[in-house]
Amino acid sequence: MIVVDWDALRVAARRAAASAYAPYSGLHVGVAGLSSNGTVFTACNVENVSFGLTLCAECGLVSALRSAGEDSLIAVAAADDRGNLLTPCGRCRQLLMEHGGSSMLVDTDPIPLPLAELLPGAFDASDLPSSGGRP
Ligand SMILES: [Zn+2]
Repeated sequence: MIVVDWDALRVAARRAAASAYAPYSGLHVGVAGLSSNGTVFTACNVENVSFGLTLCAECGLVSALRSAGEDSLIAVAAADDRGNLLTPCGRCRQLLMEHGGSSMLVDTDPIPLPLAELLPGAFDASDLPSSGGRP
C-alpha cells in the first residue's frame, strides 16, 4: 500500500504553481498527484486570452499521467504559488473522477477527502447507454 506524503505533495504543488502562466487572473495554480504506481506528477495552469481555452493545472496533471503510461491517481493536492490550499473546480473534479475514481483523496482543509465527497452523484460511464457502463 502506498502511503500519501501530503507535505511532499503540497510542496510539489506549490513549486509547480511557480511555473503557471496566469497573466489574466493572477492566480498561479500548481497541482501534484500521486499515481497508483507511486509516481508524483505535477502541472500548472495555463491561461489564454480567450478564457474558454484556459487549462487548469489538473488538465496538465492528467495529461502527464497518461503520457507516462499510467491511468490512475490516488491522491491530489493543489496550491497557489504562496502555498495556499486550493480545491479543484467543478470541471476538474469530473476530470479527476475519470482518472482517480471516487476514492481518490483530494487535499482539502482541514483534512483530505475522497473525491466522492467533493463530487457526489458524479456522471460516469454507467450513465452512457452505449457503453454498457465501461469506457
Ligand atoms: Zn479546473
